[in-house]
Amino acid sequence: MKGGLIIIGILFVLNILAWVAVDDLSRAQLLEVIFFNVGQGDAIFIQTPQKHQILIDGGPNTAILEKLGAEMPFWDRTIDLIILTHPESDHMLGLLEVLKRYKVENILWTGIVRDTSGYKEWLKSIRDEKAKIIIVQASQKIILSRSDIDKFIEVLFPFESLEGKEFKDSNNTSIVAKLVFDKNSFLFTGDIYKTIEKEILDKGIDIGSDVLKVSHHGSKTSSAPEFIDKVSPEIAVIQVGKDNSYGHPHKETLDTLEKYGIIVLRSDVDGDIKIFSDGIKYVFNFQN
Ligand SMILES: [Zn+2]
Repeated sequence: MKGGLIIIGILFVLNILAWVAVDDLSRAQLLEVIFFNVGQGDAIFIQTPQKHQILIDGGPNTAILEKLGAEMPFWDRTIDLIILTHPESDHMLGLLEVLKRYKVENILWTGIVRDTSGYKEWLKSIRDEKAKIIIVQASQKIILSRSDIDKFIEVLFPFESLEGKEFKDSNNTSIVAKLVFDKNSFLFTGDIYKTIEKEILDKGIDIGSDVLKVSHHGSKTSSAPEFIDKVSPEIAVIQVGKDNSYGHPHKETLDTLEKYGIIVLRSDVDGDIKIFSDGIKYVFNFQN
């Protein structure tokens, strides 16, 4: 699938139902990106104006189910696309619960090999799901709407397929992707370290974004000043558990973000962080 264009055709099937169910027309035009507060882990929910859903990671536990239940229409038991940035518990275990409860149409992941019980369960779950499984590599594009090619998610990393390769620490294999919704953009970084940030910078990829999901829960192993400078976000979101044992987020990262005058939102402090975009401007709110 080198340089391939992926068009997720299923994103249209539910259109008619969605329009009937939504009563607030202006809200119906908006893209929603929600950084769920699921404790120590990442779970990011993207809902298109057509009420199609994409989930990037699922957090460490069942908390994701209640969050999805509150956001998705009650009649909609289908998630159009799941993206697992890397098969680590704090991103993956919640997805196992989602796979049990929802019909998942497409799964995008790296296909790397690990030796953990959670990983084995992941493999079994995605096999049983009978979803379309797509192995990720850079330049793949997921078009959110057939009628509008300016709304998409583009994979920036890994540069080449990592399928079948074994990793003890999978953080640096995380999928990095940019969501472009006309003039607004979001950068999702998984848990990559500074070494991969540098590789991305060295390639000269356009990573500039309005909103940055700060890598690796705000750890000091990530978010090099040069990387933050290039992304140049207005908002940085840190998904992190209250009083977590890792000491995330690190002061060094918070200092870097502050130095660049970036608004920092944290799931441990601000709860669920919701961002709505109409393609030109965006608003955010949060709720504990
Ligand atoms: Zn993590």
